[in-house]
Amino acid sequence: MKLATKVIHSGLEIDPSTGAIITPIYQTSTYVQKKPGDNLGYEYSRTKNPTRTALEKSIAQIEDGKYGICYSSGMGAADAIIKLLKPGDEVIANKDIYGGTYRMFEQVFKNFGITFTYADLTNSKNISKIISNQTKIIWIESPSNPLMDIINIEEINNVAKQQKNILVVVDNTFATPILQKPLNFGADIVLHSATKYIGGHSDLIMGALITNNPKLYEKLFLITKSCGAVPGPMDCFLALRGIKTLYIRVMKHCENARKIYRFLYNCNKVHTIYWPGEIQHKNHEIAKKQMLDFGGMMSFTLKKDNINDAIKLISSTKLFKLAESLGGVESLISHPASMTHASIPRTEREKNNILESLIRISIGIEDADDLIQDLQQAFSNI
Ligand SMILES: *Cc1c(COP(=O)(O)O)cnc(C)c1O
Repeated sequence: MKLATKVIHSGLEIDPSTGAIITPIYQTSTYVQKKPGDNLGYEYSRTKNPTRTALEKSIAQIEDGKYGICYSSGMGAADAIIKLLKPGDEVIANKDIYGGTYRMFEQVFKNFGITFTYADLTNSKNISKIISNQTKIIWIESPSNPLMDIINIEEINNVAKQQKNILVVVDNTFATPILQKPLNFGADIVLHSATKYIGGHSDLIMGALITNNPKLYEKLFLITKSCGAVPGPMDCFLALRGIKTLYIRVMKHCENARKIYRFLYNCNKVHTIYWPGEIQHKNHEIAKKQMLDFGGMMSFTLKKDNINDAIKLISSTKLFKLAESLGGVESLISHPASMTHASIPRTEREKNNILESLIRISIGIEDADDLIQDLQQAFSNI
């Protein structure tokens, strides 16, 4: 089945009692049993809820996976993965992972005796040098935030599989299951902040994990029902509704991105553009190989690397709303140095190319001409 069909029909089960085409919002905490243990497959909604089950099936299918588990947030999903580990175990992550993931690693799980090592994984040779017997997880984000680095998932996976018991986790939030399917490159677990493209309408917080490995699924399911970071049925309904348009939304995000890239490329105030679709992008060839298209996330710096100009620019766009988050139908603009990466000292930030004038945009699905006009008028202020 082609993807555009899959997003609409995956997880779709006609309600047996009414014929309703859309899975109802099962707003219930518990389920009546005939005798203890004699039930219709549901006992208590922390463990299982039919609206959530439909969403989990849908997300698994669009990722080409067998098993899906949904969480009350992307961080709830990430938390469940680290709970597979024990003190002394090590996680190797690419150096520019999502700030919230970094904070959870450093400020929560370090206290539990787990070690976190960060490396430039765009070169898979770097990883063979640092893998040890303690390494249990390699954590990849591709494209990364905010510089859209691309990591060769298959190569990292080949290095990991030469050792025993190393799981490869891919945070696939930026790429979406439409553009990239890490399980098909051998990854063990795919993570989504479904808050972003999967939900797609900036109206919910949600996470998901997908795997093909039944043992891993059982362990994650146990962690999830025991620790309880599960989403409510209303949010599951919204995510299911979002998925139906995921394919056409992502196609439009990509199309708009191409047009905005061309505008920025010709804009004499722009210095560097970070977008995997750019031919000069250092990992363009890998992006072309492992992604269907290049996505709607883009960053750029100004010729005059000046924080005041950057702030003026992002404060004067009208359609591009100044806000954190990404992946919604509406375009957003943000300034990593003063927002998501403000807690990192400037010298450290700049070592990683997060300059004072770096601006990140999440390109929505509005008409590209309107978005370009909006940027044009904002550039005229600096
Ligand atoms: C937003 C985000 C997360 C965290 O997800 P929440 O739903 O906000 O908890 C994790 N990874 C990436 C890449 C993200 O963009």
